[in-house]
Amino acid sequence: MTFTAGGCRDLRHHMNNPKVIEAFGKLISGRSGYMPIIEKRQEQLICSDCKHALIGDEKFCPECGAKVEKK
Ligand SMILES: [Zn+2]
Repeated sequence: MTFTAGGCRDLRHHMNNPKVIEAFGKLISGRSGYMPIIEKRQEQLICSDCKHALIGDEKFCPECGAKVEKK
């Protein structure tokens, strides 16, 4: 039997979902429609394979062709 390593429980994954952000805003403000400002750090994305610097919207590394994993 094969088990896939988890990763579905990483909450940061959901922070890209506007509905989750809005629900989170309701939760902390008691109001609907409140959009909490979630700090987004500008991190330099690099290819996990060859460490080539990426702009951030590549799907594949231009240097080695590895798939770029979005956080
Ligand atoms: Zn690469």
